[in-house]
Amino acid sequence: MSIEISQDVCIGCGQCAKSCPGTLIQLDDKGKACISRIERCWGCASCVKECPVQAIAMFLGEDMGGLGGKLTVGRENTLLHWIITKPDGDTQILTVDSRDPNKY
Ligand code: SF4
Ligand code: SF4
Repeated sequence: MSIEISQDVCIGCGQCAKSCPGTLIQLDDKGKACISRIERCWGCASCVKECPVQAIAMFLGEDMGGLGGKLTVGRENTLLHWIITKPDGDTQILTVDSRDPNKY
């Protein structure tokens, strides 16, 4: 499992770097997020969840039942939209209210 950062989309806010429990993400000399030691990423999705512009995607391999899809997260006030994009382009969106501790 691993993530992909789109530096074209990244606005350099640094939220992903702050949220990574393994301190695997840094801002490079252009102020864009980049991941080092990607092999140490354990797929916690914190960075994916914190990115305000959906610049980070998580690969969903067969081990996750994703068959090569990608996961991004969009925010709307307290709502988190977990967006799964399948290899054929189809999307599925799961919306969770972050105020609901049983789902968050
Ligand atoms: S998925 Fe988790 S461990 Fe991996 S880079 Fe993002 S925050 Fe760090
Ligand atoms: S959270 Fe998103 S926009 Fe902010 S630095 Fe990380 S990748 Fe870039």
